[in-house]
Amino acid sequence: MFHVTLKDKKYKHMKFNTKTIHGGQEHDPAYGSVMPPIYQTSTYAQSTPGGHKGYEYSRTHNPTRNALEKAFASIENGNYGLAFGSGMAAIDAIIKLLKPGDEVISTNDLYGGSYRLFTKIFEGFGIKFHFVGMRNIENIETLINSNTKLIWVETPTNPMLNIIDIKAVSVLAKKYNILFAVDSTFATPYLQLPLDLGADIVMHSVTKYIGGHSDVVMGALIVKDKELAEKLYFIQNASGAVCGPQDSFLVLRGIKTLHVRMQRHCENGRAVAEFLASHPKIEKVYWPGFETHPNHNIAKSQMKDFGGMLSFTTKGNNYAEAIKIIENLQLFTLAESLGGVESLSGHPASMTHASIPKEEREKSGVVDSLIRLSVGIEDIEDLINDLKQALN
Ligand SMILES: *Cc1c(COP(=O)(O)O)cnc(C)c1O
Repeated sequence: MFHVTLKDKKYKHMKFNTKTIHGGQEHDPAYGSVMPPIYQTSTYAQSTPGGHKGYEYSRTHNPTRNALEKAFASIENGNYGLAFGSGMAAIDAIIKLLKPGDEVISTNDLYGGSYRLFTKIFEGFGIKFHFVGMRNIENIETLINSNTKLIWVETPTNPMLNIIDIKAVSVLAKKYNILFAVDSTFATPYLQLPLDLGADIVMHSVTKYIGGHSDVVMGALIVKDKELAEKLYFIQNASGAVCGPQDSFLVLRGIKTLHVRMQRHCENGRAVAEFLASHPKIEKVYWPGFETHPNHNIAKSQMKDFGGMLSFTTKGNNYAEAIKIIENLQLFTLAESLGGVESLSGHPASMTHASIPKEEREKSGVVDSLIRLSVGIEDIEDLINDLKQALN
């Protein structure tokens, strides 16, 4: 039994910038409150056994969480949304669709936590993971066999900003009848809509851009297919990694400005990328908006803009110099995470990607001098000036 189907199709025709504010977000029936109330309750009164108003226990359903799940479904052009206690919990639920002996083909350049979950937890349960560069789609096809049950794509990738052709992977996944999931955290539904490009599941670390204010840890899954949604709801309820009503409320609030924030993230990201690319101390800037980016054309076709994430290396791949730049930055706070309104810097090799062996991570470009920036929505002049002083 679901509360989260988009029965009400009136949101389907809306433009994205309207959906973020109204999609799935109905006024509360009790008093007409415009924002969904925070239903801070674990349980619901029943008049007689089974005589309830659709809610029994908050692990299974909670009205505030369900409002958020509808909003997720709406902004991703899906039919069903699921909210979890973290991005990792959302990924965990997807892998629990599998059983021992099943194989997964995953991007090799992916979030370190996903790599850790796959190799340190699920390989122990007999699921096999292949990590492969997916800029060349043939790399995927050669690994497919009768045990292949899931293709896991992250695009743009973290932290190398590689772009994977979602449509091309979906054609392959359909040809072999393999489930296809996309971690779309870096892009958000403002930039790309994987379900419309043929993916079966979209996953988000809501902690990042969708929440947008660095105050919530949360994950989301969105699907179109009812049967798949039923399986995932079963896992969500059975395993229980749900998020609470307070966090659901904060994210409902965050979503309302997603389009405005993303527009500014993209503008500032572009300006920072162009500034760094012209700086004599910088070796290389990884940002999909450059025409020289290996998959710029795919980025252009499947994304509306290029986002606020970028990475760069210093000339001579100088570790000490990279650390000094990070330490000198004043406005860019050195911190894990990304996608909030404030600008952050990060050192993937020692932070987000420390759980990936050095040899493995250098193969995908995560060298010691690589610095990752999450460009926030501050005044661009201040951001550029901060980078200028840090580089000098
Ligand atoms: C942060 C992140 C995750 C994990 O999400 P949490 O909310 O931290 O559990 C997964 N994928 C990507 C791309 C991320 O950036």
